Amino acid sequence: MATYHSVCPLDCPDTCGLLIEVNDGRVTKVSGDPEHPYTRGYTCAKMRHYPELIHSPERVLTPLKRSGPKGSGLFTPISWAEALETIARRWQEIIATYGAEAILPYSYAGVMGLLQRNAGHAFFHRLGASELQRTICSPAAEAGWQQVLGYTWGSDPETVVNADLVIIWGMNPASTSIHFLSLVQQARQKGARLIVIDAYRTRTAAVADEVILVRPGSDAALALGVMHVLVAAGLVDSGYISTHVSGYEELRAKVLPDYPPEKVAALTGVPPATIINLARAYGRARAPFIRIGYGLSRHRQGGMAVRLIASLPALVGAYGKPGGGALQSSGTGSAVKLDVLTRPDLRQRPVRAINMVRLGRALTEALEPPVMSLYVYHGNPATVAPDQNRVLAGLRREDLFTVVHERFLTDTALYADIILPATFFIEQEDLYRSYGHYYLQRSPAILPPPGQAKSNWQTFCLLAQALGFSEDIFRHSEREMVELLIQEIPLEQGDRKALAAGRAVKLKPPQGFVTLSGKIELMAAGAKLPGYEPPGDHELNRLYPFHLLTAPAHFALNSNFGQLSSLREREGGPQILVNPDDCRKKGLVDGTLAEVYNQRGSCLLKVRASSDVPPGVAVAPGVWWCRHSPGGRDINSVIGDDLTDLGGGSTFYDHRVDIRPL
Ligand code: SF4
Repeated sequence: MATYHSVCPLDCPDTCGLLIEVNDGRVTKVSGDPEHPYTRGYTCAKMRHYPELIHSPERVLTPLKRSGPKGSGLFTPISWAEALETIARRWQEIIATYGAEAILPYSYAGVMGLLQRNAGHAFFHRLGASELQRTICSPAAEAGWQQVLGYTWGSDPETVVNADLVIIWGMNPASTSIHFLSLVQQARQKGARLIVIDAYRTRTAAVADEVILVRPGSDAALALGVMHVLVAAGLVDSGYISTHVSGYEELRAKVLPDYPPEKVAALTGVPPATIINLARAYGRARAPFIRIGYGLSRHRQGGMAVRLIASLPALVGAYGKPGGGALQSSGTGSAVKLDVLTRPDLRQRPVRAINMVRLGRALTEALEPPVMSLYVYHGNPATVAPDQNRVLAGLRREDLFTVVHERFLTDTALYADIILPATFFIEQEDLYRSYGHYYLQRSPAILPPPGQAKSNWQTFCLLAQALGFSEDIFRHSEREMVELLIQEIPLEQGDRKALAAGRAVKLKPPQGFVTLSGKIELMAAGAKLPGYEPPGDHELNRLYPFHLLTAPAHFALNSNFGQLSSLREREGGPQILVNPDDCRKKGLVDGTLAEVYNQRGSCLLKVRASSDVPPGVAVAPGVWWCRHSPGGRDINSVIGDDLTDLGGGSTFYDHRVDIRPL
């Protein structure tokens, strides 16, 4: 038996250090690496099932060519040579007729390693394909943060152990960031209070000292209400503000008078006394730490919400206190320069950009030129993209040449003309930078790829060769690319050696605030006046009385692990949590199937009556493969492709539905 150090490749802020045990060429155990300074030897329950996935008999091991109608799942094995020749020929025909912008790449976060995740950028720049705006997850949160703090790094999550008040706002780390919650528990053992602010009672709420339930999407109003009270009660840190903050006087005079506790209570559903107590606790804390989640940013006003929550520590000087501050993502700074990999210089002319949230429109509307080919890698849009019915209609188009580079016959792969077999993280090299902590780590190729599977990087090099691209970058090995990336990172010699030896090393943040003014900017030039617009009394709200929240599952990650029946069963299958009073009103019975529907479509989910969910709210945890969903559609069939106020992001948490028993 041999044991190797590795890194979890999944879209999770914890980016665990892993130990991979290999026996006779098979992974027999995946466990936490006790040497990893942040994740310290344990993982979530999901990762322990990874060997089942790696050695699954259902893996795609050869290139496949479609031999039945789109979506039928009928394919015939072909060689890599035939697959590459077919793709190159079809793309050359499309380019000759429509131009290269008729080709659209689609990828997101199936693998989070810097090399494999960004492996296609140089190739598609060189090809002249349409550019994909990768907006499905975090752009509103990033844009909201940047309006206040520019490229300033978020507060180090490891310092939360020194906080005396922790606010987890719109995040459920008990399911999505277990190592951060463990640090919070250490702070609590030293006397810190934990307040959870969310739209329903999550697993994290169950361990909090106080839970504040806010009306979905009204987080910006609550932040403004807290600021109002901080100012009125004289709890702001004037010395800190005068040195490190710009825009305070304007915010205080022009904005905050409009958000007294009574008005904010009406907007948010949080009682005035709770708002006042929250502000007082925050203003009086020695070192308050706010962890900002992504869910609250996936509302129409999500960018504003993050901007205002990230402004709170500025008012009380918490960014300057050990243990205080705020963290939205540890990826907010630009520690790792990716241009050597993504090669924007290979673009020969500007190309159009297509927002991935609107993939359904891009595939079904009359664009000029139309999208005639889709290349999907480490992504599964048929399951995870909003406006599912339109996405599937696009994927069914006979004239759309679809290539999917995948490990399994996912919902998306079923619609492919060509499927290319893909690797797992232990079969490829990479470099990982977390978005939940500040460690960086290399991950080696531990096993040879099974069958004819190839990594993203290897595949794009082969495609470049097939299309006659002569740039040197397409001849580099994975190891050479990882070395190039590391050269770009400012590291001390000792850290370089540690990184080369496979250990995690900590990135060091730049000093001060990385904004235009060098200060925290509460009223940044060009930014909208801070505020919150209530949703109003729209017809849709009456037709569809539930505010739907599509929360992360506990035993799955996006559409990963969806193929494992054991984890599907532990999660409880596709379900919707509804308040018991709403169940009574609607005739919904716990444990039975109901139809969740709106003007976009419908899906069938099992009802779970839960007093964790406030009346008028419905929570659908996880996205489920269509084939594992009764009725063949998942929750994205009722999710629209509306965009956030900042960053053009998804609005997964901001749609209305009704629910009826079957
Ligand atoms: S999904 Fe998250 S918690 Fe689980 S092993 Fe991966 S990084 Fe760790």
